[in-house]
Amino acid sequence: MLLSYKFSNNIPLFKCDICGNCSNFVESTSYTNIKNRGCCWYFPKYNLVDIKNIINNGNIDFIYYLSSIPNCVENYDIRVKGIFFKNQYDNYTENNIKYSDFDNSLFFRLCPFLKKDGCKLSFSLRPHPCNLYLCREVLQLAGKVYTMYSRERKDYYAYCNYFNECLKEDLESNNATLSDNLEESLDILNSSTLPPFQPRKLQNIYINYSTCHHSA
Ligand code: SF4
Ligand code: SF4
Repeated sequence: MLLSYKFSNNIPLFKCDICGNCSNFVESTSYTNIKNRGCCWYFPKYNLVDIKNIINNGNIDFIYYLSSIPNCVENYDIRVKGIFFKNQYDNYTENNIKYSDFDNSLFFRLCPFLKKDGCKLSFSLRPHPCNLYLCREVLQLAGKVYTMYSRERKDYYAYCNYFNECLKEDLESNNATLSDNLEESLDILNSSTLPPFQPRKLQNIYINYSTCHHSA
């Protein structure tokens, strides 16, 4: 099994062969209608840097598509709600106390972009947490060699945090918000400057998955 790093058009991606073959991990436990959901329990949140990257890559129409989903555009980000199987969760919590150190409600959540054969979005249309998240099992399997990946992830998060504030200031100084003036806000973001992130070159990590047995 292989963990590798791709960086393209200012968007980083950790690619892990185990993803999609991980139905026995705690985080991939799914009591939803998609059993091989992996950890796609996330409800995608696009910050201004994600939006800016998508615009810069020529995919502004995707932002308009997101904005057509009811109740997801906030002032300075876009949050797409997924499905939460609440009744099943309530039933479950009455009868199980299985993983006290893990939020059991995640077993019952589903990202709306997940289909039976995986994420329907290209990595360049996902919010950055999707592209950089790895579960605790993968981290454990990768061991110490994951350190440089971890630094890269932290650095990209720091980059996003800083430039998200800069882009927000650009909107504020024009009295624009995504929720009140979407088109104008996207024009402003289009004209804003976003210095590119400087990625590291990361070595592939080979993981011996076959020696590891997990049970959920
Ligand atoms: S990060 Fe872990 S839980 Fe998530 S899809 Fe990959 S292997 Fe599965
Ligand atoms: S956007 Fe794609 S990768 Fe991210 S949580 Fe949803 S299905 Fe998974």
